[in-house]
Amino acid sequence: MIRALWLYLSLALVCISAQTASARDLAVVNARIVSAPDASPIARGTVLVRDGRIAAIGDAAEVDVPGDAEIVDAQGGTVVAGFWNSHVHLMAPPLDRASAHAGDVLSQTLTSAYLRWGFTTIFDIASAPGNAIALRERIAAGEVDGPHILTVDAPFFPKDGKPVYVPDELGGWAPRLAEVATPAEAAARARRQLDEGADGLKLFGGAIVGGEVGVLPMDLDVARAVVEVAHVAGKRVFVHPTNAEGIAVAIDSGADVLAHTAPQAGPWPEALLRRMVEDDMALVPTLSLFEVEMRKEGVPEAIIQREVGITKQQVAAFAAAGGAVLFGTDAGYVDAYDTSVELRLMHAAGMDWRRILDSMTAAPAAYFGHAQRKGRIAEGLDADLVVLRGDPAEDVAAFADVRYTLRGGRLVYRAETED
Ligand SMILES: [Zn+2]
Repeated sequence: MIRALWLYLSLALVCISAQTASARDLAVVNARIVSAPDASPIARGTVLVRDGRIAAIGDAAEVDVPGDAEIVDAQGGTVVAGFWNSHVHLMAPPLDRASAHAGDVLSQTLTSAYLRWGFTTIFDIASAPGNAIALRERIAAGEVDGPHILTVDAPFFPKDGKPVYVPDELGGWAPRLAEVATPAEAAARARRQLDEGADGLKLFGGAIVGGEVGVLPMDLDVARAVVEVAHVAGKRVFVHPTNAEGIAVAIDSGADVLAHTAPQAGPWPEALLRRMVEDDMALVPTLSLFEVEMRKEGVPEAIIQREVGITKQQVAAFAAAGGAVLFGTDAGYVDAYDTSVELRLMHAAGMDWRRILDSMTAAPAAYFGHAQRKGRIAEGLDADLVVLRGDPAEDVAAFADVRYTLRGGRLVYRAETED
């Protein structure tokens, strides 16, 4: 009887949600639409959303909007695909304990940290085991508002290589346990994490341990074991590089994404860049991280400028060589969520607004295997959309001035001040 009742209620819920999903279309109107980084803007267009997907996109005169559709007026602003932040950590409270907090607390935090900046997809690249997946499940169940979450789950540190800046306790877990000593141990954990739902893996090619050692490189065979397991499963491996030796670990192990630029490595020579691009590697610049961290530590301004100058050279040279640049800020490790500093530094590194848009949309969607669903505004794709107040072609800071964020066709963020 109880079972039958449960079944009845489940069916009723399915019917209700199916009805609400299909009951009402949504239309973003009065918009300048940039459907993809290389597309010609539509001067005054409409995006029609149905059942969480994009049903139509085009000139306002060509798209029929049903009379009962919910209208989102872009007021002459710019509509682009939902943004990706390819380097975040779900480790700052309350996000470090996804199961322990009320849904509205998590929703508020995810909104101010990510949805408010236009991020509809984030890649968590190291947090406490199981935490990101638990949060993703609560978002999918409708208990929490948040972006689509991809995760590497727990990181892989070298033996005795927990970085000094990683706390001893994180969401009830001891990060020291993420150290791996042997290829067999690394491979076993890599398999387990992927089986449990991780979307990639992350290893520390060079771990900042301080003291006399300074930067501890990961044993190449351990790194190779992690990469091999990931690639068999069709998943990408991020590497925290730190210095030239850490970059060498990334390249020689066959890993995919440099999770940071590396001021300690100095300017990147031509041969290194060619190798990285030939190997289809991607780079997450995290330029603002270095500036924010050094300023926090009271590093003299001249040194900050020199170090940031090196990282900008690395980004500029990598982008010019044709490498895949993926936008990422290390948000959640640094308490800095405003994207405007990163945008300004990327622009100063020679990336124009289209290249920056690519790094936030089409490039990560393609690199991580989601191009069929995300990264562009096109019929049939997920209705992950950002409505900007201004025009990023005039000023890249417009990417940080978000009026509305839609995820899966649902309005998940609306700026408070309407003008
Ligand atoms: Zn990080």
